[in-house]
Amino acid sequence: MIDASQKTLEDFLNGFSNVAFFLDNRRIIQAANTPAQATFGQDTTGQNFVAIMRRPEVLRLIDNCLTHGHQAQELLALDGVLRGDFQVTASRVGESEVVISFADQTDIRAAERMRSDFVANVSHELRSPLTSISGFIETLQGPAKDDEQAQIRFLDLMKQEAGRMDRLIGDLLSLSKVESDAHVLPRSSVELGDLVTRVIAVLTQPAAKAGVVVEVKTQDVLFQVQGDEDQLIQVFRNLIENAVKYGGDGGIVSVSLDQLPNAPGIRGKAVSVAVSDQGEGFARRHLPRLTERFYRVDDGRAREKGGTGLGLAIVKHIVQRHRGRLLIDSIEGKGSTFTVLLPGAD
Ligand code: ADP
Repeated sequence: MIDASQKTLEDFLNGFSNVAFFLDNRRIIQAANTPAQATFGQDTTGQNFVAIMRRPEVLRLIDNCLTHGHQAQELLALDGVLRGDFQVTASRVGESEVVISFADQTDIRAAERMRSDFVANVSHELRSPLTSISGFIETLQGPAKDDEQAQIRFLDLMKQEAGRMDRLIGDLLSLSKVESDAHVLPRSSVELGDLVTRVIAVLTQPAAKAGVVVEVKTQDVLFQVQGDEDQLIQVFRNLIENAVKYGGDGGIVSVSLDQLPNAPGIRGKAVSVAVSDQGEGFARRHLPRLTERFYRVDDGRAREKGGTGLGLAIVKHIVQRHRGRLLIDSIEGKGSTFTVLLPGAD
């Protein structure tokens, strides 16, 4: 049975959208709001707060508030029934009571951590080519000052490193553009058969240089989707470039287009574009992380091939913006297939 004053207290506490308790001056729980009851159970009223949470920092907040009367707040990582990062606030109400509330900051903190990791990664990625370039400049000013052959070689290496920085900045700008467009559904009509053929035409020569042949398997139909043409070009360019890069000398990269009456996770009919290679592939354990920014299966090898580590992250974001799906399949030592599924248009 809840009496009238208990009901008023609970109504007051339900003004807090976060877990909140009303405690008397001995830390006995007088009332718990609906989120608190959902988390800690229905019958916490009458218990000492320490029985449901033993964290010394939280108890200290309550006691400080009781003793000094002012609001006390602390960001705490909790790992009991309440798990995650919480802004814990103790506020004095009335003569000698306290409301303690827990605002869940887990997602905000995770986003902050991701942002600072990203900045650290970008700085690191930019610093390594810059360090190489500085080293080459010193060599050119010192030991190689009069060595024309060495100068030609070092200038060439410096050009490669500058190219790496340029690609990285280009990819960062693409990623930021894709992210800012994330919630805007593209509206133009794009025919993927023609688009993929154009991408392959541009990549045929660099592929041949790497000893790889790119072939396309398609049918005599239109693969119409609603999309952003430039972004879709980027998707297939990144996937085919990767297939060429990691596909191995003498290999064949095949790009197949299909129309499907339905596909998991896609509304209505779908268009599928699969890019397969016969390269080294990778172990299954890499799959969940492959589209993360700067994740590389073999760090040294990917860098040596001039990769920025951002290609698949860009692909994933563009595909998501188009309400599509990216499927990845790979067998170590045999090759990989990256399939883009997009909702088909009439
Ligand atoms: P990168 O610029 O390093 O190629 P991506 O984001 O495009 O970055 O790819 C991330 C990582 O995924 C690569 O470093 C590579 O290890 C792996 N990868 C991508 N495509 C393939 C592929 N076709 N075969 C094998 N590994 C691949």
